[in-house]
Amino acid sequence: MAFDCDLFVIGGGSGGVRAARMAAATGAKVALAEESRMGGTCVIRGCVPKKLMVYASGFRDLPAEARAYGWDIAEGHFDWTAFRTRLHAELDRLEGVYRGLLAGSGIAVHDQRARLVDPHQVELADGTRIAARHILIATGGRPDRPEIPGAEAGMVSDDVFGMERLPGTLAIQGGGFIACEMASIFAGLGVKVTQFHRGTQILRGFDDEARALIAESIRETGVDLQLDASIAAIGPRAQLERADLPASEPVPAARALPPGEPLAVRTRTGTILDTDAVLFATGRRPNTEGLGLEDLGVRLGRRGEILVDAYSQSSVPSIHAIGDVTDRVNLTPVAIREGMAFSRTVFEGIPTAVDHDLIASAVFTRPELGSVGLTEEEARAQEPIEVYATAFRPMRSAFAGSEARVMMKLLVSQATRRVLGCHIVAPEAGEMIQLAAIAIKMGATKEDFDRTCAVHPTMAEELVTMRSPVRRD
Ligand code: NDP
Repeated sequence: MAFDCDLFVIGGGSGGVRAARMAAATGAKVALAEESRMGGTCVIRGCVPKKLMVYASGFRDLPAEARAYGWDIAEGHFDWTAFRTRLHAELDRLEGVYRGLLAGSGIAVHDQRARLVDPHQVELADGTRIAARHILIATGGRPDRPEIPGAEAGMVSDDVFGMERLPGTLAIQGGGFIACEMASIFAGLGVKVTQFHRGTQILRGFDDEARALIAESIRETGVDLQLDASIAAIGPRAQLERADLPASEPVPAARALPPGEPLAVRTRTGTILDTDAVLFATGRRPNTEGLGLEDLGVRLGRRGEILVDAYSQSSVPSIHAIGDVTDRVNLTPVAIREGMAFSRTVFEGIPTAVDHDLIASAVFTRPELGSVGLTEEEARAQEPIEVYATAFRPMRSAFAGSEARVMMKLLVSQATRRVLGCHIVAPEAGEMIQLAAIAIKMGATKEDFDRTCAVHPTMAEELVTMRSPVRRD
């Protein structure tokens, strides 16, 4: 069979673009289709705009802190429109960078949707068919909405960055990465936030002590965090107040409400809360619909994710998949690594499996949570451990009179002395955990941490100065 190209990539996010560029660098002829904006979730409607909003919201506390340090600074006012204009200019710039990288690598870009028609052929939305020796699916995921009456009236994370106005009040559903980050961000921007989470504690999967501290700090930023609580319906208050409203009765969407009609949410326990906007952050779903995968026999998992082996190969040999569409570890740097491993395996002939062990991550709340390795609960279930932990008021904010505390925690194997997990709740914990992760990935023991001289005065020095365990099995 004659091929038009060696590789056709569907999806121009971080993973797809990296894989395409690496394959092109080996001399392969590469094409890529993206139906939306180049850069994908991370650059256009995820990590990047979110982090810029984290920075924007962080300035709220600065005037008070600066005054404690002797500066004569007045409170200011946050201008959403001014910020949003600059934000979108920055996203445009970054999209341009991505396009430049693709053009510079000689990759043919198709700004349209693509679907598979056979194991070696894709069809673009305009009907063009392109035959490729290999096809890489990197279509990512999208936010999921709970199936409740009026759900379409709520926003998902994609909608946040394009909001016309900053809401005065915001109800958020969810207790994961996005819900917690957005609650912190919006509270920092002066929005009155109510966060509902169905579980008994936020951030399931993280270390329990760290979860509790983040929940406390979210509340301290002014968020009304309600646990064991869920939004059951959204709509006009009058309709929600009808006692006989069955759970499944559709409530008109906010877009369909008469202008000025106030929005409200009703919780599972029947409480009604007026709110200017609702944000669902209840997880994400792989983008596999309408790609023609089932017809080709590409095996999908329960959530619609493409099932792949350690080399990102699907059940159809010419089709590989990387990133969130495979629902392995849904983080940008992981998708990039999967893309690089794919290219090395297929185009350089060096079989390369991605190592999904000990991936550090950060939740960008205020303070941040940085985490790598096992939680205390997981480590204890695995083997006898020692727990080294410290909580203290950091110098910078303590001087300004804040009671805010930071936490550092190391979980150590009694048998091997290796550090099995590290959890940091602190400003800039994301930066700290990146460095701690190198040592832990290298197999550092507690004694390796101990013989590392402290950098003084810093918060992170506590990681190398904890002498006695606070708990020992
Ligand atoms: P998460 O999986 O982190 O959290 C989903 C939350 O929604 C959980 O609290 C979950 O509760 C809750 N939930 C799920 N379904 C329902 C439902 N039907 N009704 C009510 N609550 C529900 O997803 P996110 O959307 O926050 O983020 C998606 C992914 O994006 C993350 O897993 C992460 O991989 C990535 N991400 C990473 C970031 C980072 O690295 N800083 C930032 C943002 C996103 P429960 O715990 O009970 O299941």
